[in-house]
Amino acid sequence: MRDSAGVVICGAGIGGIAVAYFLANRFDVTDVILVDERPPLSLTSDKSTECYRNWWPGPGNAMVCMMNRSLDLLEELAESYHNCFHLNCRGYLYTTSDLGRICDLEGFGREAESLGAGKLRIHDQWKKNDYQPHSANGYKKALHGADLITDQALIRKHFPYLSEQIVAVMHVRRAGWLSAQQYGMLLLEEAKKRGLKLVRDQVTGVRLADGCVSAVLLASGKVIQTEVFVNAAGPLLAEVGAMLGVDLPVHHELHHKSSIEDTAGAVGRDAPLLIDIDRQFLTWQEEEREWLVREPDTAWLLEEMPSGAHLRPEGSASARTVLMLWDLHNEKVSPELPAPVDDFSAEVSLRGLTKMLPGMQTYHSRMPKPYIDSGYYTKTEENRPLAGKMGVPGAYLIGAMSGFGIMASAALGELTAAHIAGAPLPDYGPAFSLDRYQDPAYQALLADWGGTWQL
Ligand SMILES: Cc1cc2nc3c(=O)[nH]c(=O)nc-3n(C[C@H](O)[C@H](O)[C@H](O)COP(=O)(O)OP(=O)(O)OC[C@H]3O[C@@H](n4cnc5c(N)ncnc54)[C@H](O)[C@@H]3O)c2cc1C
Repeated sequence: MRDSAGVVICGAGIGGIAVAYFLANRFDVTDVILVDERPPLSLTSDKSTECYRNWWPGPGNAMVCMMNRSLDLLEELAESYHNCFHLNCRGYLYTTSDLGRICDLEGFGREAESLGAGKLRIHDQWKKNDYQPHSANGYKKALHGADLITDQALIRKHFPYLSEQIVAVMHVRRAGWLSAQQYGMLLLEEAKKRGLKLVRDQVTGVRLADGCVSAVLLASGKVIQTEVFVNAAGPLLAEVGAMLGVDLPVHHELHHKSSIEDTAGAVGRDAPLLIDIDRQFLTWQEEEREWLVREPDTAWLLEEMPSGAHLRPEGSASARTVLMLWDLHNEKVSPELPAPVDDFSAEVSLRGLTKMLPGMQTYHSRMPKPYIDSGYYTKTEENRPLAGKMGVPGAYLIGAMSGFGIMASAALGELTAAHIAGAPLPDYGPAFSLDRYQDPAYQALLADWGGTWQL
């Protein structure tokens, strides 16, 4: 192994790999070593639902502009590499059974439109129906903006698997999913072709000389001389920040994703990502209630549950797999690696999805064997990422990508690489810098931050 490099990146998740790719391919910085103690993309980046959207709230339009840029880059890559990572544009479909929530949906649509996510179109029973359905595959026919549909016939025609109680849906159009593993490996292989070296080791320290990065220390005892270090350590971002004496303002939430085989065909194979925006009480049999209420660990399942149960089909039209998620526990936790799995999460998600997808009822009495994954959302207080300088000369970071790291990785990788290369930065750059927290105006904004539209 070489004992010096122009840049050393710690972490071969999607963040570190994206920085390596853009350094090599956009800025011709090729003398780069990527260090990870685990196989590439194996800690958090392979736990993702692999979805993307350009629908993000304010304040300001930085999130929407950054995601639009990221999606432009994803589409360019799909075009250049024959869509080898299966980018689709099926959209996200937010659903409600509550007439009172239609104006909330319209409000979200107007906000997203004003921030640059595309036009809001309304389809009710009085207007000429010009709703354009999505394609199940491919990314080329993507509409932007969103369609708010309250015309019941239109909802039943295009989404026949939804409950008849659903009174409105919002179809967000610059949204869908991709194979994150194939996308990440494409970036990694392309960066390797330009000179990137991948090293299996653990970063244990960063040496400074005159206050600037001078070397990276590895668990194997090796030392790599370098003047540029990138912290892309995912859930270990703060630990690696501490190696340089930098206190990074991040916390963690544990999230679960379950998959089952939908043998009864409760969901159309061409469905978009389906999200229930209503709060709800789960339905249980009388004897189940009696059992649940007795245990402190399960009694909460009888209380009102939050919104946000979501699901998407996974695989080809002939496959049966569906992915299910429902973020019920957003408490701050210390990351334990590997992330623990809650065996009950699949059944709870399935029951939470049944209100929106009544066909799932069939699995209540005979739950299909689930496969459950878990990982951490590493987040800042306001759920915006960190990309750029880390406060010590020669040190950079990319992280706190929460539940949007796959979709944002291209733009944030490009942004971090631009900082390193000293290239001009996009207008949204300062919104994701660590030093935004030094700005009193930003501190004032934080005190009154609105929703984050987390999924
Ligand atoms: C359940 C779930 C669903 C999600 N769904 C989506 C989604 O639909 N869309 C989306 O865009 N995002 C989604 N995400 C978020 C996305 O997966 C993450 O934001 C992203 O993977 C984070 O990437 P990362 O590179 O920062 O971290 P990681 O993938 O965790 O990579 C960090 C790497 O750093 C390495 N490392 C750490 N410390 C050291 C050290 N000292 N030395 C060497 N190596 C080190 C680790 O081994 C690891 O490989 C989801 C996440 C979860 C958990």
